[in-house]
Amino acid sequence: MNLPNIKEARKRTKNEVEHIYLEQEYDKNAFKNKKYFLRTYGCQMNVHDSEEIAARLESLGFESTDELEKANIIILNTCAIRENAHDKLYGFLGRCKHAKKLDDSIIIGICGCMAQEEGVVKELMKKHPYVDIVFGTHNIHELQDLILERNSKQNIRVYSCEGNVYENISYKRDSNIKAWVNIQYGCDKFCTYCIVPYTRGKQRSRKSKEIIKEVKDLVKDGYKEVTLLGQNVNAYGKDIEGELSFADLLQSVAETGIERVRFVTSHPWDFTDEMIDAIANNDNIMNYIHLPLQSGSDSILKKMGRRYTKNEYLELYNKIKGRVKDVAITTDIIVGFPNETEEDFLETLDVVNKCKFDGAFTFIYSPREGTPAATMEDSVDLKTKEDRLYKLNELINKYSLENNKKLEGKVVKVLVEGISEKDNNKVFGYTETMKLVNVTNAKEDIGNIIDVKIIEAKSFSLDGEKN
Ligand code: SF4
Repeated sequence: MNLPNIKEARKRTKNEVEHIYLEQEYDKNAFKNKKYFLRTYGCQMNVHDSEEIAARLESLGFESTDELEKANIIILNTCAIRENAHDKLYGFLGRCKHAKKLDDSIIIGICGCMAQEEGVVKELMKKHPYVDIVFGTHNIHELQDLILERNSKQNIRVYSCEGNVYENISYKRDSNIKAWVNIQYGCDKFCTYCIVPYTRGKQRSRKSKEIIKEVKDLVKDGYKEVTLLGQNVNAYGKDIEGELSFADLLQSVAETGIERVRFVTSHPWDFTDEMIDAIANNDNIMNYIHLPLQSGSDSILKKMGRRYTKNEYLELYNKIKGRVKDVAITTDIIVGFPNETEEDFLETLDVVNKCKFDGAFTFIYSPREGTPAATMEDSVDLKTKEDRLYKLNELINKYSLENNKKLEGKVVKVLVEGISEKDNNKVFGYTETMKLVNVTNAKEDIGNIIDVKIIEAKSFSLDGEKN
């Protein structure tokens, strides 16, 4: 059994990563008529991992169910980013334990970033013996074997080291209109607050020819949009000698003819002029960029290990705005990083006032065990942090609404994705700039890119009608 050792992640050497082409066949009848319940927490990476997990379960004959009580196997794909992640996991495990009491044959599995944490694995072994299998982010490809080999003991397989890059992975994609395409795993940036380099390992890029082949296959299958996915997506290729840069990869993906190309999440430090050119020069690379700021204070940015200053961020922001037509830019901001002063916070508000972001994910800092920031002294009380978050959100929402209002009366292209949850008479979709639009008179257009006239703008969405 391999237990993860978080500290090892920092010391690891640049060992050779192998690119392995998987050709596994499993007995589709092994779990015929059995059901799986899969719950996913966290980021897009986890959502996409769950698409792989679902395909692996179905390769053994399992069928999907949304009802936990009907499941023969329950898999929880966990996230370690937010403070309440542990509470959420253990809260949900209570329901699983109850289900297992009623039917002892149910298999309960835990995977994802929390499964990479040594403390969590130990706790699962000690206090939650009814959990049958635990696997980490580096060995999802072994799921079928873990299920087939399980016995009365807990089957725990969590690799502490990131290992290889696997190709020829099957996915049960959530959508037949837009698809995630992993281009890179892990991250080498080690921002001081972030658990990702420990739970996801060092950066490993896929080979560009495999990525382009995957996108070409998606085009053939009728997909309209791909989002290139990586923890630090624009550092793509830096870990493979002679590989394409991210800018070149973007260009090659655009040339496959897919109608929309997006990417998340980029780091300002790796954002090159060539990338900006690729976005500006290709109509099918969307004019939407998520550019995490985290803080506007140089001193906090330094403590975070972000590798850029406030002015460098603003310079990049203005360069993108000047070069990419009608670009929308959103961001991530953390308030209340250890010892953040009022002056530091005002620097953040200053950047928000200068950039007038289209939107932002904003958070109060919460320590993640094992990261350098978790050991930093913090004199800021929670009330102050909450007040700062409130002020920040007011400002973010103001600019978001202002930006959206500029679209009223305009006609924009929307990729229609499905029926609106709030109003069954409407459909929803996204503009090129990633704004959510609820559209009337377009039920027959699901899966199509249509012209929509914007009738009303709100802070977080737009209302429109088919033009
Ligand atoms: S670049 Fe992103 S994923 Fe990587 S360490 Fe920093 S915050 Fe975490």
